[in-house]
This record gives sequence, C-alpha cells and structure tokens, in this order.
Amino acid sequence: MTDQQLHPDTVAVHSGRAGLTELGVHALPIDLSTTNPLPDIERGGDSYEAMATGGRPIEGGSMVYARLWNPTVARFEDALAETEHAAAAVAFSSGMAAMTAVILAHTSATGKHHVVAVRPLYGGTDHLLGSGLLGTETSYCHPSEVRSVLRADTGLVVVETPANPTLELVDIAEIVAAAGEVPVVVDNTFATPLLQNPLDHGAAMSLHSATKYLGGHGDVIAGVVACSEQTAEALRRVRAVTGGLLHPLGAYLLHRGLTTLPVRMRQQQENAKQIVQWLIDQPEIDEVFFPGLDGDPQGILERQMRGPGAMVAMRMSGGYAAASAVASSVTLFTHAVSLGGVDSLIQHPAALTHRPVPADARPDADVLRLSIGLEYAGDLIADLAQAFARASTAVAVEAAPHAAGRGGLSYPVRSK
Ligand SMILES: *Cc1c(COP(=O)(O)O)cnc(C)c1O
Repeated sequence: MTDQQLHPDTVAVHSGRAGLTELGVHALPIDLSTTNPLPDIERGGDSYEAMATGGRPIEGGSMVYARLWNPTVARFEDALAETEHAAAAVAFSSGMAAMTAVILAHTSATGKHHVVAVRPLYGGTDHLLGSGLLGTETSYCHPSEVRSVLRADTGLVVVETPANPTLELVDIAEIVAAAGEVPVVVDNTFATPLLQNPLDHGAAMSLHSATKYLGGHGDVIAGVVACSEQTAEALRRVRAVTGGLLHPLGAYLLHRGLTTLPVRMRQQQENAKQIVQWLIDQPEIDEVFFPGLDGDPQGILERQMRGPGAMVAMRMSGGYAAASAVASSVTLFTHAVSLGGVDSLIQHPAALTHRPVPADARPDADVLRLSIGLEYAGDLIADLAQAFARASTAVAVEAAPHAAGRGGLSYPVRSK
C-alpha cells in the first residue's frame, strides 16, 4: 500500500517517520546542532555546494551547517509534503518568510519582476507585495481579471482561498488556467491540507502560515510551502542565502501538531457550523461570512474543498460601535489576532490584520472575524450572546479613522 492510498487521517499520524525504527526511537528526534562534523574536506565541500544551491546533503557528506539543512525540520517538511500530495516542502521562520522566499525565487531570481495578486489577500501579503520592498511590481485584480493583467515579465500569481477575512472562495483550477505558464501560489492557511490540496488543482505551490492550524496551539511561528522538488530547490536556495529558518523545536511541535490536525479541524469545523447557524438568526448580525452558506453556486466548495473550515466572519448591524463593544465584551473568546488554535479568537480585520491594506481594498469597519476553537459550541454561543447584549447598550463611539477606511501603513520604499 503506497502512502497516497492511505486515508489523510493515517497520513497525518504516520508521515515523516521514516527510519525511526532503525534509530531505535519512537518519538520524533530533535537535532539542535548548528554545525556538523565533516568527513573530509572534499565530501564536506561537495555537500556544502549541493545544499547551498538548493539540493539535499550528499550521501556521507555531512549536513555541514544548520542554515543549509536540519533533519528535524526536514522530517516535518516530508510529512507536510505528503499531506499536500506534493513531492517536497520547504519550511521557514514564518508565513511571511515563506511568502518572501516564494516571491524572490520567482521574481528577482528569474528576472521577472511583475506579480499578479488576486484580492482579497492576508494584509501582510498585500502589504509585502505593494511595498515594493522586494523589487517587485504588483497588479492587484479580481479572480476573473488574471489573464488580462498578465505580462511577459509576470513571474508569479498569488491567490488565497478561502480568503481572509471574507471567506470568499476562488476556483484554483480557473486561476491556474488563466495564469498559463506562470506558476500560481495558493495561500492554503485557512483550509489546511486536510480540507484542500491546491496542487491537485494545478497550483505550483501551497503555502501555509503554519503558525495557524498546523501548529494549532498558538506557540509556534512558522511557514511552509509544498511544491515540486524543482521548486523546493529554488526555495531552499533562497532560504540558505537569506536565512529565514524554522528552528528545529518549532519543526518538532508542528510535526506533532500535524498528527492531530484532522480531528482538530473536524471538531472546530463542526463547532463553527453550529455557531454560524445561531449567528444567522441574531438581530445584531447583518451578514455572516462562511463558505457554502449561500449554497455553492459555482460548485467551488464541492470541487475543491472537503469542508468549509472553522473561520467565520460577521457584519454587525450596529456598525463599528457594535463591533468594538463585542470585541471588548467577550470572555471565552480571546480578543486577539491570529487563528487556527484550539481556543477561540475574535478580532477586527480593518483595524488589525488588514490595517496595511489600502483603504479601498480594506475590509469594512463593521466586520469581526472569529476563529472557532475546540471549546463546547454552546459555551461559545453563550459568550457571543452576552457580548451582543452588552454591545446593544454600549454608547455609540465614532469609528476610528483606520476602521472607517482611512489611514493604512506605508513602507519607506517606493513601489515602482
Ligand atoms: C498569518 C497569515 C499569514 C502570515 O503568516 P505568519 O506566520 O504570521 O508570518 C499569511 N497568510 C495567512 C492567510 C495568514 O493567516
């Protein structure tokens, strides 16, 4: 039985465990070495060159230095690649370090400096592309406009689905077809490999902020990209040169987190469905954002995903004042950015995660985003109910400038 035939639950538990029996251990080993003994100058040097240019250590040639290779990180990468139906994966110190490496490997490294970015995107990604900091020029567009904004020097198409924070779905295969020869990277953070595998729909790369569901416990910042071995070489080369490494302790925690991802995701999704059902009947709510809530008119959910996930957004009928009051009144939910952990979080995208996004593309000021955790759904609903009750009596406050759609962050680098 090959691994590809195993159920994803089994893959999540058993992937990345090759050779453990030979080592005589059962738990995943952690190697903290920053340097490694060299067999001799020749083989050490050859191995160094192989890894510095994006390859793997040569047989008997030493791993040389941990900026080039770490076996604990490599184990997590193997495991993640398997869950994503990919040949390889490359891990980084954060989701943004992963996105930076993806951009550099497909722009500066290829001489193609134009990027097509399908909005909406995570605020940090939007900001990174718009800042010009990496020497790129970005065309932002709607999913249907990808083909029309492509240029001869387009090196990369960036898309996120489900999108942050509106949970809009984008048809990956359609974007891939429109992109033609240009590689497409899908930010798969919200769906996780359990619910969506972008490479199966033709994407070149599936990127995760592993900080979120993969880690799942709010204690590791990391990023990872699943892709072909050839793309992995390009990404490892950037990583070796720029040094955005994942620490082996982080890799260990992520690898361990992967084993419980299927059960966590299923239960968090189940809780989210119950909360969404309750939310749509509440007078305090104007609109609920959740994949599949309005049916699946384009069939994207059915074709591309195995479930809607556990992220929810809601538009408060009381506007920004109500959003502000609810965020400060919850007691079980933590008012905090980030997502995907075992405990539930609530945050205001326009003021926080999407603050760097230009005003015309920023989420509305009356929208709050919920990351649903593993608590008992009834307790989470009761918490929201008491926060709504408090919000209805709160004194109306004027929207803060950023929340009202002004402001935004600029980076001291001119975009082209
Ligand atoms: C958090 C996040 C990122 C950035 O990841 P970091 O680990 O915070 O650097 C990228 N994309 C999405 C969708 C995210 O939620």
